[in-house]
Amino acid sequence: MDDPQQPETKKRVVVCGGGVIGVCTAYFLAKKGAAVTLVEKSSVACAASGKAGGFLALDWCDGGPVKSLARASFNLHRSLSEELNGPESYGYRPLTTLSITITESGSSSPSGNSKIPSWIDGPARAPRTIGTTETTAQVHPRLFTETLLNTAVEKYGVEVVIGKVEEVRVGSVVMEGGRVIESESVVLALGPWTGKFEMLGSIFRVYGLKAHSIVLQPKEPGIITPHAIFLSYFPQGGKAMDPEVYPRPTGEVYICGMLAEEEVPDDPEQIVGDPASTAMLKRVAKNVSSHLNEGEAQVKAEQACFLPCTDDSLPVIGQVPGVTGCYVATGHSCWGILNGPATGAAVAELVVDGRATIVDLSPFSPARFLAYKG
Ligand SMILES: Cc1cc2nc3c(=O)[nH]c(=O)nc-3n(C[C@H](O)[C@H](O)[C@H](O)COP(=O)(O)OP(=O)(O)OC[C@H]3O[C@@H](n4cnc5c(N)ncnc54)[C@H](O)[C@@H]3O)c2cc1C
Repeated sequence: MDDPQQPETKKRVVVCGGGVIGVCTAYFLAKKGAAVTLVEKSSVACAASGKAGGFLALDWCDGGPVKSLARASFNLHRSLSEELNGPESYGYRPLTTLSITITESGSSSPSGNSKIPSWIDGPARAPRTIGTTETTAQVHPRLFTETLLNTAVEKYGVEVVIGKVEEVRVGSVVMEGGRVIESESVVLALGPWTGKFEMLGSIFRVYGLKAHSIVLQPKEPGIITPHAIFLSYFPQGGKAMDPEVYPRPTGEVYICGMLAEEEVPDDPEQIVGDPASTAMLKRVAKNVSSHLNEGEAQVKAEQACFLPCTDDSLPVIGQVPGVTGCYVATGHSCWGILNGPATGAAVAELVVDGRATIVDLSPFSPARFLAYKG
């Protein structure tokens, strides 16, 4: 709910990082009446937040500490789509989700199985419904992030500064080139780059796991149904893999997989995919559907990006121990697009009201790593 503060009492907050987490945080902070500056080094959603699948699930994080964050976020995605998903659509839609097995050497006769959509005409078997239109949905992650930021700028006055944050101090951030932006609070939402800041690096580690993706535009997009597909894929002569296939309302089909541990380059624009991984995803595409074979589909993107990961596989969201007015929100791994909205809403409450009510943030507190250090 809007909670505008008077101009003279507006809390000044700098949000560092223009990925989905930084943008959601800036949006909800500004909606609560804070005066927000968002600083992004390169361009908004240039990293994982623009290259992710955009798959959302209500209950796939149940049974662990992320359950309430994911459930709150899934519901926020639905309400945000009603608020924002007008003519400038960012592709929010509920969809059915299937798990399917493909064995490259297998025979191509899926027609007997009515559960397998007809465009999946490769050697597919063992279909299982693992999500319904009540429990799974999708967004186009770059368009979602951009739409939310545009709304935050136009409706709530968020200022966007393009430039690299070099240093975070109590009460200000220092940019490359020496510009200082004063603020009462700073939120660090720099994805896998968050750990590069010394004040955090001494408390916990955020590392990047590289993942690849391709985007295909089939000649006959009308034939592709709204099904998210989680594959168990057995390549001939290779190790089993679990790539994911997401048709989008734009008619494009996004395919991702091929994880590798690699050093995160300083500049997000320098991230390039490994050609062998890209070639493997094209091979997956061809074996899923003749409509995704290279002659039948244009390759619109071959890309890579980094999942932001922590040592205990949980996000880190909360006040940085011992640093007044400094907050962190990162480590969302493979669920950052899903968990962006509730993370942003909770951080906004924490910064403005001193306490988050939408989600209990205690499992995600950065202070938990101090306990490990003893
Ligand atoms: C292949 C793949 C598929 C995925 N699919 C899904 C999915 O289907 N559903 C889902 O929920 N999640 C998915 N994810 C996970 C999701 O993409 C991430 O969890 C999420 O994007 C992380 O967002 P972020 O804002 O923390 O980080 P990022 O998107 O990495 O953003 C960090 C930003 O900080 C900026 N930055 C870095 N250093 C500085 C600096 N010094 N100064 C200023 N700015 C700086 C960068 O330029 C970047 O824009 C997927 C991820 C991958 C890799």
